[in-house]
Amino acid sequence: MILASRNQHKVREFGELLPGFDLRPLPEGIESPPEHGETFAENALIKARAAREATGGIVIADDSGIEVEALGGRPGVRSARYAGESAGDEENLAKVLGDLEEAGGTRAARYVCVVALIDESGEEHLFEGSCSGRLIPEPRGTGGFGYDPAFIPDETGPEDSRTMAEISPGEKNALSHRGRAARALADHLGR
Ligand code: IMP
Repeated sequence: MILASRNQHKVREFGELLPGFDLRPLPEGIESPPEHGETFAENALIKARAAREATGGIVIADDSGIEVEALGGRPGVRSARYAGESAGDEENLAKVLGDLEEAGGTRAARYVCVVALIDESGEEHLFEGSCSGRLIPEPRGTGGFGYDPAFIPDETGPEDSRTMAEISPGEKNALSHRGRAARALADHLGR
């Protein structure tokens, strides 16, 4: 199964989430398509179809991001490039936190992940997972990636103020949007 992603963090997390599956990276030299979709599902399918066309194999691709309630769901599908096309994780996070300060109100946010699978026969399947939480003004922690240092998941409970960058990889996988989508995919493949 080919995982159509160049994001090393995602490749590592999918490897942990799908033990026992022979996950291969996209072969060198295959260009990633532009992600012009308006939804996570559209973008996941754009990536999966391009990888399928290039390799002919079974492919999975994901699209994910964070939706901030007070920002009307932004950055959403633009999470990876919110502060500009070549912006890194820190700049994107700083822009979200700055915009949130300006907007005021609730700090609620949720991560969303949609995984697209194209199977042997070319059939397309979608699996979605989400993880709700809140954003804090001062990022903390070195684990995870992206918006994790400022995101406290609801599921760890009101007494636990660790960010997604402070919990262990195992804990993150158990409650994350990507974990949920990957388990739905694994259930489907196990059938
Ligand atoms: P994609 O590669 O187009 O799917 O963009 C995903 C972007 O969403 C990443 O670059 C991060 O900014 C954000 N994101 C997705 N999943 C996570 C996560 O688990 N933690 C933190 N940020 C994430």
